[in-house]
Amino acid sequence: MHHLMDTEEIRRMLQTKKEELEKRLLAIEEDKERKKDPLVSDLDDQAIQRENDPVIDALDETLRQELRQIEHALYRLDMGNYHICSHCGEIIGEERRKALPYTTLCIRCAHET
Ligand SMILES: [Zn+2]
Repeated sequence: MHHLMDTEEIRRMLQTKKEELEKRLLAIEEDKERKKDPLVSDLDDQAIQRENDPVIDALDETLRQELRQIEHALYRLDMGNYHICSHCGEIIGEERRKALPYTTLCIRCAHET
C-alpha cells in the first residue's frame, strides 16, 4: 500500500503544479490579447510593449515545456511506469524523484547522457 500512497501524493503534487502553470499561461495569453487592443495607441507604450515581447514569449515557452513534462509524468503515472527509467528499465530512486519529479531517467542513465 505504500507505493499506492506514494503515487497518489505525486499525482496530487503534479496536478497542483499543472493548474498553477495553466493559470500563469492564461494570464500571459490575456496579457498578449490586451496588448493587441487598438485602444492602446500611445507610441511610447507600444515601444515598451515591443521590447517586452521576446521576454514574454520566452517565459511562455518555458512554461509550456514544463507543462508538457508534467503531462508526460502524469501519463507515466497512469501507465504505472512513473518509477521506471525509460532508458534502462531500472527503478528510479525515491530521492531522485523527489528532487526531479518529472525525470524519466534513473541517476545512472542521467549521468551517462
Ligand atoms: Zn536508467
